Amino acid sequence: MRTLIKNGRIATAGDLFYGDIAIDDGIIKEIGSRLGGCFDNIIDAKDKIILPGGVDVHTHFNLHTGRAVAGDDFFTGTAAAACGGTTTIVDHMGFGPANCSMEHQLRVYHEYAKDKAVVDYSFHGVIQHVNEEILDQLAVMIADEGISSFKLYMTYDYRIVDADIIRVMKRLKALGGMLTVHAENHEIIEHLREELLSHGNKEPLYHALSRPDYCEGDAVNRLISLAAAAGGVLLYIVHLTTEKALRHIENASKSGAKVYAETCPQYLLLDEDLYRQEADEALKYVLSPPLRTKRNLEELWRGIREGSIMTVATDHCPFSISLDKQRGKEDFSQCPNGLPGVEERIPLMFSEGVMKGRISINKLVEVCCTNPAKLFGMYPKKGALMPGSDGDVTIIDPECEVTLTCQGLHSNVDYTAYEGFKLKGYPVMTISRGEVIVKDNEFIGQRGRGQFIKRKIMGEIL
Ligand SMILES: [Zn+2]
Repeated sequence: MRTLIKNGRIATAGDLFYGDIAIDDGIIKEIGSRLGGCFDNIIDAKDKIILPGGVDVHTHFNLHTGRAVAGDDFFTGTAAAACGGTTTIVDHMGFGPANCSMEHQLRVYHEYAKDKAVVDYSFHGVIQHVNEEILDQLAVMIADEGISSFKLYMTYDYRIVDADIIRVMKRLKALGGMLTVHAENHEIIEHLREELLSHGNKEPLYHALSRPDYCEGDAVNRLISLAAAAGGVLLYIVHLTTEKALRHIENASKSGAKVYAETCPQYLLLDEDLYRQEADEALKYVLSPPLRTKRNLEELWRGIREGSIMTVATDHCPFSISLDKQRGKEDFSQCPNGLPGVEERIPLMFSEGVMKGRISINKLVEVCCTNPAKLFGMYPKKGALMPGSDGDVTIIDPECEVTLTCQGLHSNVDYTAYEGFKLKGYPVMTISRGEVIVKDNEFIGQRGRGQFIKRKIMGEIL
């Protein structure tokens, strides 16, 4: 199968130019002007912008929390991703039974994704307890299973204490793996939550007030210190939300620490005031960390522009507003945390970011495609438009105007956090390994066509 995409404007992390892309057998063969030859499929991208397929390194499909099950499995979730211009996802494995091995969860997740995923995928390992066996499994996961990044939480039931975080860091440093962390100070949250609830402060707004910005600032600062004590490790903060934490990262980076930050569209575009409305509305935005004040939003955009925030992912974790989220109606602490967003990411970053002049098109490609592929060991197979890369392409029509509504999106959930957002520019075609899988907002690919990506460590590719 040979495909030619012609006459488009090609955007990469470093360039913007008119050209054609030839894809042969799923792989980009050639990029240039007026490419000739025989093709099975010729796509005219005149007046369109061509990006590498989006790479979303933070999703939660098939997530079972104690209280609820997130709405998307690997079919509906990856189909929604594809409709939004994303062709690669890295899902965060959920917790398994107490004391289970990392391989146990890996097997569970391979089962979840098999015959379902429609775009290429990988998983981040999850560290829910630490002992010698778990530390030894890190090497096996990296060398044999192609899982080169792992996540631990500083809060929730399976939080990892500082001494164990250092042990994990030391081992990962030796192996070259990446440690990703949900960074919030657990003790402060517990204290504030109990205090608020005991005073009858149970509305959704108090969810945000129980997790103030200094919880994240403190945790990120502490992680940076723990990484220094461990001799330095590749450290990646998932869903960064605050100026306080960003400043710590910027300072640490100046002194040479390898600390990377991810943020998400909800933290760039939605603010804390959304909690100050009726519970039925406000519960849509109960997620952790919570939405922040407008000042933080502006600082995060600055961080993206200046390069101290490396990636924009989604933390896609959809719970229905009509059922699951209602558990929080009388008490915010009972509300399952998370919101959908895997489909909205590229459209929002294009319209709200590029079209509104907050970032360049190259910066969009950098943070939504290229950097995540590099940091998580998939570059240049993913996240790039160059000969030899997978033929993963998103075509955006910059003139296409779309008002976001739940009905127009494909995630298996009954709301979007961006209902009514008027977007200028929208993905009109998504191509995965040379195959058109989305055309005009309709998924037309085969269920289960997605492939597992054996990821490398960052040191092997950069
Ligand atoms: Zn998450």
